[in-house]
Amino acid sequence: MAGSLHGLPGNLFVVAAPSGAGKSSLVKALLELDSHVQPSVSHTTRPPRGREKHGREYFFTSTAEFDSMVLGDAFVEWAHVHGHRYGTSKKAIEDRITHGADVILEIDWQGALQIKRIYPNAVLIFILPPSWEELRSRLERRGEDTAEVIETRLVNAANELAQAKEFDFVIINELFERALFDLKAIVHAQRLKFLSQRRLRADTFRALGIL
Ligand code: GDP
Ligand code: ADP
Ligand code: 5GP
Repeated sequence: MAGSLHGLPGNLFVVAAPSGAGKSSLVKALLELDSHVQPSVSHTTRPPRGREKHGREYFFTSTAEFDSMVLGDAFVEWAHVHGHRYGTSKKAIEDRITHGADVILEIDWQGALQIKRIYPNAVLIFILPPSWEELRSRLERRGEDTAEVIETRLVNAANELAQAKEFDFVIINELFERALFDLKAIVHAQRLKFLSQRRLRADTFRALGIL
């Protein structure tokens, strides 16, 4: 696939945030409301959490398998995050975008910046928590990670927040419904761009004589 989304029917959205800011919850809610947006399922070497299912949240992969995918050039991007490796496979996104779906990636900032270099039209969205106190308390309330893992994630969060300035959009996830509204607005605005409208409403454009 060419290194640009020009001429391709679908949009590519990339959501990043420090762990606990609420990106999975927001993306999940968006997917329930909007069937034109499809998730990309990443590969990870991290072990599954309680309710996570192979192929749904992630493809849980051994380090050997991950290595062989890297060598086989199977990833669009991959990165070390919180002591594990995570990657987006080419397979997870290329077919879908070519066939007109809008694809959303929930990945770390390093992966997001790699994606922007490959696909300059990708839309990068950063989710901020309303405060440090709230970020810690969400990680604790979620109850999926050990105290040690939570500490690592909070230490890493400071570096991650410094990357927000590289993103196209920022959403502050204080009130969940407000943050979801903001995310929907970004997706909607992208679909109103000239090239997107001309493709989606080709008949109207033709009838009006607009090339
Ligand atoms: P992940 O494990 O990091 O992928 O997190 P999930 O996206 O699966 O979300 C974890 C939990 O947060 C789910 O049980 C959601 O239903 C819940 N949740 C979603 N929105 C809100 C909210 O606004 N407030 C609270 N308190 N919980 C929420
Ligand atoms: P991430 O995917 O960024 O690690 P999650 O979506 O798992 O974050 O959210 C972390 C925790 O915070 C979850 O327990 C979730 O229910 C909760 N949460 C998410 N958004 C909000 C919000 N706006 N207000 C309160 N709690 C929230
Ligand atoms: P978690 O273990 O909480 O699901 O995710 C930890 C971090 O890894 C998050 O910042 C998440 O966005 C990131 N991540 C998940 N999948 C990918 C991926 O495919 N590529 C990259 N670069 N990061 C990912």
